[in-house]
Amino acid sequence: MNLHSEYVADRILECASELRPEIYDCCIGSCMCFTGEFENDTTCPICEEPRFDQRKKARNRFRYIPIIPRLQAMFKDPKLIELLLHRVRRESDPNLIEDVLDGGVIRRLLDSHVEIDGEKQHYKYGEFETDIFLALTCDGVSVHKGVGARRSKTQYSCFPMEIIILNLPPTIRTQDRYVFSLGVIPGPREPKHLNSFCWPLYQECLCGLEGIPTYHTI
Ligand SMILES: [Zn+2]
Repeated sequence: MNLHSEYVADRILECASELRPEIYDCCIGSCMCFTGEFENDTTCPICEEPRFDQRKKARNRFRYIPIIPRLQAMFKDPKLIELLLHRVRRESDPNLIEDVLDGGVIRRLLDSHVEIDGEKQHYKYGEFETDIFLALTCDGVSVHKGVGARRSKTQYSCFPMEIIILNLPPTIRTQDRYVFSLGVIPGPREPKHLNSFCWPLYQECLCGLEGIPTYHTI
């Protein structure tokens, strides 16, 4: 394709994939994100720095990449569908822990009915083979630190948030191509209220509990 700029390429990719980042304001020191109970706050409840500058623009932003459209896209590929079936096809011994799926938390979930707003649903967690189990991982990464004599005195860290899909076989689920980035919490300091940055993911998971109509290619 004869594209004039990276911007145009990005917009075409956005339209074709129906995947658009959601943009949320966050504290200038990245203590927290203005989501959920903090949505209408004008100062950071932790360090009291103002949310907006003099031109009423947010001083810092967090870009969140939704997970649902990417999970839905996996069901368009028969090979990926096969890989996602690992969770239901694997044979497990109740006396052995061979995978995170054998752990107490997931075993208890598999035995309980889904609850939404305190209301018990007629289906259990993991009852459908298309149910997806996700693990969230987030840790600080130092950037611009330099090495040796060039080592900078100020450390700048950022915090990538990533999703591991537990349905996939353990041998591949942590490979780069199968790990989805949700976004990067901007630095320079570590987030003090991580849950406020996880709020968009939490909303998506609530949709997942109800079930998300998805085209299944097989
Ligand atoms: Zn703050």
